[in-house]
Amino acid sequence: MQESLKTILEIQELDMKMLRLMRVRKERSVELEQIADLRRELHAQLDEKAKEIEELSKTIVIMEGKIQDSVTKIKKLEGQQSSIKKVDEFNALTQEMTALEREKIATEQKTSDLVDKRVFEEEMLEKIKESLKASEASSIALENEIKASIDMINQEGRGLKQNRDHLVSEADAEILRIYERLLRNKKDRVIVPIENRACSGCHISLTAQHENVVRKGKNLVFCEHCSRIHYWQEAEATDGSAAATTRRRRRRTATA
Ligand SMILES: [Zn+2]
Repeated sequence: MQESLKTILEIQELDMKMLRLMRVRKERSVELEQIADLRRELHAQLDEKAKEIEELSKTIVIMEGKIQDSVTKIKKLEGQQSSIKKVDEFNALTQEMTALEREKIATEQKTSDLVDKRVFEEEMLEKIKESLKASEASSIALENEIKASIDMINQEGRGLKQNRDHLVSEADAEILRIYERLLRNKKDRVIVPIENRACSGCHISLTAQHENVVRKGKNLVFCEHCSRIHYWQEAEATDGSAAATTRRRRRRTATA
């Protein structure tokens, strides 16, 4: 059992690396999306501003037409007035002309306000254009950097996958199936050693009996609390570490 678990433990380490890689890749992809969103937002603002200015220009043309009409009408009335002899008709025309003049002045005022507004909006448009240019220059560099790091992550991922496929071909299919199901749920290490008579996954204390069963290593033993698979970490498991070497040396000295 312990032997079959060893391969799965190696797979688990690769899977942990893969999970971490995928998390980083996701973060980086989100950054890319944010950059694209910002650019889209600025482009939308730019389009909206341009449309606003276009509408203003159309309105200004219409208003200028109205002013021109009033001028023509007033001139016409002035012409009529010069040939009128009756006082009341003369006065009626004067009234009409005064009304037209008042209307013309009001339209001129409105038109002048609109022209001011257009100047302001055109300045805004320039500002948006400038910030778009600045953000595009800096975001292209950042985007390229993020894309390069995503490429590297993908490359590393492919390497991990190759190693994993190789290990899977050697692994116990049944244990692998159980391991993968647990991993899908926990997205974390699911085969864990017992440390100080506690599950190193959920840190809840275990009974001496539970520890003994795990130590024997004959069956798969699951944590009652978190369902992780337990294994007993032998001194050999830390092969290559200073502690293991010292222990072996001592043993050799003792038997010599
Ligand atoms: Zn546990």
